[in-house]
Amino acid sequence: MHSAGYQAHLVGGGVRDLLLGHEPKDFDVATNASPEEVKAVFRNCRLIGRRFRLAHVHFGHEIIEVATFRGMQEDSAPAVRDSDNGMLVRDNVYGTIEEDALRRDFTVNALYYNIEDFSVIDYTGGLEDLEKGLLRLLGDPATRYREDPVRMLRAIRFAAKLGFRIDPACETPILKQGALLRSVPAARLFEEVLKLFMSGTAVQAFEKLRHYNLFSELFPETDECLTHEEHDFPITFVVRGLHNTDLRIREGKPVTPAFLFAVLLWEPVRRTTQLLVESGEPPALAIQQAGAEVISRQIAQTSIPRRFSMPMREIWQLQHRFEQRGARRAKRLMVHPRFRAAYDFLVLRADAGEADLELAQWWTQIQEAQPEVQNRMFNKEGVAAGRRRRRRRRSRPAEPEES
Ligand code: ATP
Ligand code: MG
Repeated sequence: MHSAGYQAHLVGGGVRDLLLGHEPKDFDVATNASPEEVKAVFRNCRLIGRRFRLAHVHFGHEIIEVATFRGMQEDSAPAVRDSDNGMLVRDNVYGTIEEDALRRDFTVNALYYNIEDFSVIDYTGGLEDLEKGLLRLLGDPATRYREDPVRMLRAIRFAAKLGFRIDPACETPILKQGALLRSVPAARLFEEVLKLFMSGTAVQAFEKLRHYNLFSELFPETDECLTHEEHDFPITFVVRGLHNTDLRIREGKPVTPAFLFAVLLWEPVRRTTQLLVESGEPPALAIQQAGAEVISRQIAQTSIPRRFSMPMREIWQLQHRFEQRGARRAKRLMVHPRFRAAYDFLVLRADAGEADLELAQWWTQIQEAQPEVQNRMFNKEGVAAGRRRRRRRRSRPAEPEES
């Protein structure tokens, strides 16, 4: 871009992370060239977006997003603001680099790296804030959150990820304006939740979301359960689940949104199941119905694509089947495509004190055991079932066997 005579700067998270000595997730470029001009420079370039056109320049399997400097909307153009809540509904005017800087969210995200002289261009005091570890919104915080309520979640995400403080002036409106998130499309909130909880600092993000009363906007039913915690159980379960996710990410192991959402919604599912069982529903059906109900209520807040909600429901439903330790059923369960995830989930429940620790250990051992040892273990089924039945009689009706 530079040798074609344009201004082109690295901007946003890439610059911020490099200055902090972190490895950037991706690179964004801001330029004074129009998308069409960018396309004329690179053969491997596609233009995307209708409202605001962006150029995607492909390098192997990397995509560099190249955006033309954007300008501020003029206040005299009321049509672009939703009159009810001040949210920006149109944002597509080209501008100067300085205008482009001012419409970004935080000062530390508004730094430009200039390859012409290898300098960092800072119109907003971002370098100083970076030094101080401070997240400061550009402009009037309450207005900027109204324009785009997701900025509240971004504040929390960056605070968690970078270990930064949120400027007090940017903190107070979050505590008051959390309900603004209700106007954000559920699909966008789903994406934000993944970024919050799948960046290696999920525990911090969770604690901050709770602190700023935003968790209740994202997961109202889970939040409701957390306020009624008994023996620490639900909160330990969620925190342990998130901690596990953080460890897996740090070890480079795969994490799936299905497991994450199964953890986040487990307590509502467990409680709904309990109520259904108390009203006479067989457990296997109860957990199935509870899962469907909780998901259908949750998607009002965050969408959950079917490719994730299906495995989530399986993870929940299999929890019930772990109680059956007979040879035939256990072997069938072990070859179930969702066995591994469901087993990890069981271990998490046991660690949090909600599921039988002995049961979880049994499943750990059976997987590692030689066939003849396995067979001896399966034979204990009668004993286990007998004990289970005695305990059950006190709390819930006897459970019909699955065919
Ligand atoms: P990361 O990619 O590490 O999550 P990032 O800061 O690069 O962090 P992106 O979502 O990739 O975040 O956005 C790139 C840049 O675009 C940001 O640094 C910021 O300057 C700007 N930006 C993104 N979202 C918003 C928003 N909601 N409001 C204003 N500016 C935004
Ligand atoms: Mg980025």
